[in-house]
Amino acid sequence: MSVLVVGSIALDHVKTPVEEQSELLGGSASYAAVSASFFSNVNLVGVVGDDFPKKHIEFFGDRKIDLAGLQIVEGKTFRWSGEYHWDLNTRETRSVELNVFEHFTPDLPSAFTDTPYVLLANIAPSLQSHVLDQMSRARFVIADTMDLWISIAKDDLLALLKRVDMLILNDSEARQLTGETSLIRAGAAIRKMGPKFVAIKKGEHGCLLFGENAFFSCAAFPLEDIHDPTGAGDTFAGGVAGYLASLNHEQVTFEHLRKAVVYGSVLASYNVEAFSLERLRSLTHQDLEHRYQSFRLMSHFEILG
Ligand code: AMP
Repeated sequence: MSVLVVGSIALDHVKTPVEEQSELLGGSASYAAVSASFFSNVNLVGVVGDDFPKKHIEFFGDRKIDLAGLQIVEGKTFRWSGEYHWDLNTRETRSVELNVFEHFTPDLPSAFTDTPYVLLANIAPSLQSHVLDQMSRARFVIADTMDLWISIAKDDLLALLKRVDMLILNDSEARQLTGETSLIRAGAAIRKMGPKFVAIKKGEHGCLLFGENAFFSCAAFPLEDIHDPTGAGDTFAGGVAGYLASLNHEQVTFEHLRKAVVYGSVLASYNVEAFSLERLRSLTHQDLEHRYQSFRLMSHFEILG
């Protein structure tokens, strides 16, 4: 089964307290598509400029990523620059150059319109809705968002939420969207806005999954060395979507999602071990299964006695 992934494709500049790198492959759709491709075929929709290095296009093509929806237009690729604080959990955006992304309209090739699983990675909610307007048989739709859209496009986001099955966002965004301090209340409040399922990410502290009368707290895999946290959330979302597509059940249940968020967390934990998508590039299915099993043992508990 396939997942349609739409979002940004970028050239990033990332500074951490110990290292700085530029001209990196980045963007929400790049991370999400490569992550999802560990489990399923991916239909990628995005835009790049004519300066976008060929080697990145070849990298996508070498994975199971269909590039029929990749628009290559005259101009410069979207560029983003960020700097991380000492905790590697918080960051400042240093600069954003929209370039060709400014006039991006995600028009789908006709072969993509019946893709059953859809991941609307981080782009303006009006564009996310434009994608759904073109889809004929979406079985499960996941949307990601960010603080910017909650601030400047809240009505568009609220309209989108009525059309998606799951929303993924981080803890501060969940508080911003709902006005709730408690994440438990925030999860419940977002479900009332439309999505049956909500995942609230808490960075190095894992994520919370909410469903109907159902709740799951997933830890983050403990890592000693984090090199670049960029794209962890997108990698997580891609892993969730790709895993669900690989199950290919008529109906996605809370139990499917519990396992999907664990796989998403495992992929995200690998992604932050190196800059850009370098760790995903070298990752094998065996690595993935190995960490999934260690994570399972680590998280498992029983009441003794
Ligand atoms: P994350 O670390 O999950 O927030 O994702 C970081 C990625 O999002 C980077 O690779 C950026 O290129 C991309 N990005 C940053 N700002 C935006 C934006 N306004 N719209 C879409 N993608 C963005």
